[in-house]
Amino acid sequence: MQQTRSTQLFERARLSIPGGVNSPVRAFRSVGGTPPFIARGEGSHIFDADGNEFIDYIGSWGPLILGHRHPVVLDAVAEALTRGTSFGAPTEQEIELAETVRAMVPSVEMVRLVNSGTEATMSALRVARGFTGRDLTVKFEGCYHGHVDSLLVKAGSGVATLGLPDSPGVPKGFSDTTLTAPYNDVPALEEIFRLHGPQIAAVIVEPVCGNMGCIPPAPGFHQALRRLTADNGSLLIFDEVMTGFRVAAGGAQALYGIRPDLTTLGKVIGGGLPIAAYGGRRDIMTFVAPSGPIYQAGTLSGNPLAVSAGLAVLRHLAAHPEIYTRLEQAAAELAAAAPQGITVNRVGSMLTWFFTDQPVTNADDARRSDTKRFGRFFHAMLDRGIYLPPSQFEALFVSAAHTDADISTTVDALRESFRLAE
Ligand SMILES: *Cc1c(COP(=O)(O)O)cnc(C)c1O
Repeated sequence: MQQTRSTQLFERARLSIPGGVNSPVRAFRSVGGTPPFIARGEGSHIFDADGNEFIDYIGSWGPLILGHRHPVVLDAVAEALTRGTSFGAPTEQEIELAETVRAMVPSVEMVRLVNSGTEATMSALRVARGFTGRDLTVKFEGCYHGHVDSLLVKAGSGVATLGLPDSPGVPKGFSDTTLTAPYNDVPALEEIFRLHGPQIAAVIVEPVCGNMGCIPPAPGFHQALRRLTADNGSLLIFDEVMTGFRVAAGGAQALYGIRPDLTTLGKVIGGGLPIAAYGGRRDIMTFVAPSGPIYQAGTLSGNPLAVSAGLAVLRHLAAHPEIYTRLEQAAAELAAAAPQGITVNRVGSMLTWFFTDQPVTNADDARRSDTKRFGRFFHAMLDRGIYLPPSQFEALFVSAAHTDADISTTVDALRESFRLAE
């Protein structure tokens, strides 16, 4: 077989990088084959090291809601570069980003910038513990909140894709602070609160789950979370690292009309550069150092290049609400291309086709999908130039850069690929 450049690069990468990748789901383990090495992107398209062109529905796993190399991002970063790459000192743009986040997500009264979604959830949990003086966290099976030690319990995403158990290297004492319930299961949550209510610092949830494939909240689920946490003096943390600025300009909390106590943001907020944030109620956030006693810090936090990219994207989204109408319409067309016997879950521009004819409302339902068929479907799509997440347990993302022509090309590929995957 002719060696492609991607195959050569993958072999070389595996000598120096564990599994050849810097994040596990990139490795194509569950679908087989070699991941294309990406050379560049433009709008909704990416090009690999062999010159193959794909319509990209990963979008860097969520950040690229405007597509690759959007002019507002390129201009903002180029302008920031003329001033310097990092100062480790406060800058005016950080205030502008914080003010923009507050305006778009009103429950966030104060916000702290960090470098990754993992850092955001880890810090939000520390703040929740410090503020409440309690140790326990409740999370939902299949929700992924980054690779925070205490949250790698029944975590979806890469862990589910690889079929790994809860991760080695996490001390038992850490995982013991985490209680889990099935997603969308209010009675299970009520039982947890009945047994442990006074010890629970926080409930953390993906308000639309994207990390076991896309799973929307059942009607009333968020209202129950809000009520149970408030009644028990626990905090409600919406992990909007994926949903923030994506399912609506104000995130899932705007879509469902819920005001969480703390919110974590990532992905879109950096416009493709490494940035994330956590924030929420003023009385809670003033516990963070240096205004309060809870320590959290970062050498590159609020990095000028990342801040300028994020600010440009958020301002663009706030000024163009029609983007969300377009995302909704384009994603709905993709969803409609699924044949009978496939369960389609979609919220806005997040979408998963589950290879099962049963409804998918939690991790157990998702696991009933036929991942072998998914693998055939995935490769049929890739052969037709459509780059989807290489796992049944990930959501795809439509961007504002996807054109009508992209969508109709994709719909044609979907029709053929679903048939080939039979
Ligand atoms: C991606 C993601 C994270 C982790 O963010 P990283 O930047 O990869 O550390 C946390 N929570 C959710 C909901 C995510 O989708």
